[in-house]
Amino acid sequence: MKERGVDVPESVRESLRPRRNEKIMDLVAEAGIDVTPWGVRKDGSVIDNPRTNQTYCYEWAFGGGDQPTALCIWHGSLVISQGLILYDRNMRQYALELDRVAIDRSARSDARSRARIQAKRARNFDSLLQRAYRKSEPVRVVILEGKPHSEPDLRWDTSKVSYRTLDSEVWYVHSYSDDDGSCRLVRKNPPDRILNGENIPPTQPVFVDQFSLPTSVTKHESTGFIFERSSEVRRAVLERAAGVCECCSAPGFKMDNGRIFLETHHVIPLSKNGPDEEWNVVAICPNDHRRAHFGEDRAALRGQLLAYLWTIHPNAQGVIRTLLETDSNELLAKVPERAAAI
Ligand SMILES: [Zn+2]
Ligand SMILES: [Zn+2]
Repeated sequence: MKERGVDVPESVRESLRPRRNEKIMDLVAEAGIDVTPWGVRKDGSVIDNPRTNQTYCYEWAFGGGDQPTALCIWHGSLVISQGLILYDRNMRQYALELDRVAIDRSARSDARSRARIQAKRARNFDSLLQRAYRKSEPVRVVILEGKPHSEPDLRWDTSKVSYRTLDSEVWYVHSYSDDDGSCRLVRKNPPDRILNGENIPPTQPVFVDQFSLPTSVTKHESTGFIFERSSEVRRAVLERAAGVCECCSAPGFKMDNGRIFLETHHVIPLSKNGPDEEWNVVAICPNDHRRAHFGEDRAALRGQLLAYLWTIHPNAQGVIRTLLETDSNELLAKVPERAAAI
C-alpha cells in the first residue's frame, strides 16, 4: 500500500474492495450499533435469525440517535481527489427522484412500490448524514460490491450486493448543503473545523422548538389544559434530531439568530398519559406536526414515529411495544385531537 513512503490512494481504494459476503447485521454490530432490535419483528414476535429481519437488513444507513452511524456505500462510487478517498452523493435529491417514480402512474406497480421504499431508505441515509455533519461525528462505512454489470442506480437494490465489508477507518462529513442536499464524505481525514475545535457547544442552544419562542407566538395553539413539559426532554430530543425533521428528514429552518427551528411532539399524547420522555418525543417540522395532529393518516404516522423511536431507543423497546399494541387497537387513533395541546 505504501510506495516510497507515501500512501497511494489508488491502491488504498483497491484494498477497500470487499471480497467476502459478510452479513450486514454483523457489520452494523461491528460498527458499535446495538442490533438487539433485529431480533424482534415489527409485531413484537421473536425472529429466529435476526440477520434476515427485513425491517433492517435492506436499509442503507444505520444507527443515529445515541448510537454510532454506519452508511452503506458502493465501492464503485469511491472517488480519489487530492490524495483523499471521497464519496460525493446527493441522497436528498435521489429520494426526490425516487418519489417521482413512486407517483408515476405510467410506471409498473412493482417499480413504483420499490421506489417508494427506496425513497424512505434514501431519506434515512440523508438524515443520518446531516446529523453526523451537524454534530461533527465520524461515521462508519460499509463498503458494498455489486454483481458485475448491474445498472448504476438499480445497484442500490440489495439483491445486487455480492460482497460487503466494514471499513476499519472512520469517515467524516466534510460538507453538507442545506440548500440542495449535496454532501461530501471523506475517509480518515477530519475536516479543518473539527481539527480546530470549532464545534464547541455554543452557550445558546442551536436547536429550538415552539416552546422556546415568546409565549405570544404559541399560546393560541393550545386550548384548554396545558400539560407540563420537561425542557430537559425537549432539549435532548432537539439535540438528537440535530436540526433534521425526524419524520421527513427535511432540515428545520434557520431563524435570524442562527438557531434551527423544529417543533417537538409527543407521539403518545400527554392527554393520553403519554410519558414526557425522550423516547416518546420527536422533533418534527411544522408541517408534519400539523399532520401528526390533524392529518387523516395521523394513526399511520404515529405508528411510523413509534417505530422510529423504537430503533433509536432500544432500552425503551418493551414499553414502546406495549404502546404499539395499544396503537394497533386504534384506541389512540380516536384521540379527539382538537382537545389536545399541540
Ligand atoms: Zn417533516
Ligand atoms: Zn404535537
